[in-house]
Amino acid sequence: MAKADGGGFDAGALCAPGVRELKPYEPGKPISELERELGIADIVKVASNENPLGPSPRAIAAMAKALVSVSLYPDGNAYALKRALAQYHGLGIEHITVGSGSDHILELVARAFLMPGRSAVMSRYGFSIYAIVSRAAGAELRMAEARPPAHPTEPYGHDPTTLLQEIDETTRVAFIANPNNPTGTWLRKRDVERLLEDIPKYTIVVLDEAYYDYVAPFERDYEETAKLLRSYDNLVVTRTFSKAYGLAGIRVGYALSHPGIADLLNRVRLSFNPSSLGQEAAVAALADRDHLRKTVELNRRELPKLSAALSALGVQLIPSVCNFVTADVHRPAREVFRLLLHEGVITRPLDGYGLPTHLRITVGLPEQNRRLVKALARVLAQ
Ligand SMILES: *Cc1c(COP(=O)(O)O)cnc(C)c1O
Repeated sequence: MAKADGGGFDAGALCAPGVRELKPYEPGKPISELERELGIADIVKVASNENPLGPSPRAIAAMAKALVSVSLYPDGNAYALKRALAQYHGLGIEHITVGSGSDHILELVARAFLMPGRSAVMSRYGFSIYAIVSRAAGAELRMAEARPPAHPTEPYGHDPTTLLQEIDETTRVAFIANPNNPTGTWLRKRDVERLLEDIPKYTIVVLDEAYYDYVAPFERDYEETAKLLRSYDNLVVTRTFSKAYGLAGIRVGYALSHPGIADLLNRVRLSFNPSSLGQEAAVAALADRDHLRKTVELNRRELPKLSAALSALGVQLIPSVCNFVTADVHRPAREVFRLLLHEGVITRPLDGYGLPTHLRITVGLPEQNRRLVKALARVLAQ
């Protein structure tokens, strides 16, 4: 019997080939980590597109009430949450799949539909989780070329033409973020419709709408995809409670799809996701339209102000409809990120996405945005 002493033991040689090639997802740096490293307090984190207003007070109350019951397993069927979501979207409960964050839903799609010999398609500069879940499932990942940096409305955005070119009979999943993170770009109605029309029926189209609530009220040319489920059986729309709903830490996301797809996703889902607190929080947050409205209005006010202040520093912004902006700082952004850490400000460098001079900055509270701009001005002057 082999000794578990690590001597000469190579776990990498034993693992699934797709897993060996993975790089772990690089999350935004946690505030507590920077506090430990620098011994400073009063840190501003504008790295992970979290809601600067925090969670809905109703969600906090619901979780507090549910705390005494955490010795019990969650409702594995998440009945109350699914019912609330079904009502909200005007769909039957059989169209809904819930999970621990929409990342979890993306992974369920990969597990249910991908395997070696099959391929998945995404856009260059698309959300990095798509690549991780596809490769982990052993599938080939195809990167469609993005729109050019000089594109007038969607620089670095998804290009329907190149996405369609990458799809063939092996392609089981197309991952499309609308709007996309980390570019903040979005696809107009005609492009979404063209993709849904032209992508073959044997390819599952995942429309990731993590930032839906920041766009839908303001852009008339943003597609209402939930109603398209009636026309496209291969469509999966994903949403999350992590961004506008302010519940990133408790991990709840969901998908809307054909019941046949929901049934398959549910088979690969580990039964007790999301957690009981997550289920309670999401039901309460969904009902708190006032908190969502405040969140979206804050962003609507601050996004143009932050964008103008950043542009005044000479950085170049990708036009964003989200709660973040992505800026070309015209020098290695990881270096700018490091210098900003010493100013107590956490941003997100995008070299991992193949954008070495771009920095992603979440829209925060007015005073957080001011601090970020001042800190960045000092760093760029160095
Ligand atoms: C944040 C984000 C998600 C996932 O968020 P969860 O916290 O896992 O729900 C999914 N897609 C995009 C594009 C995102 O930016």
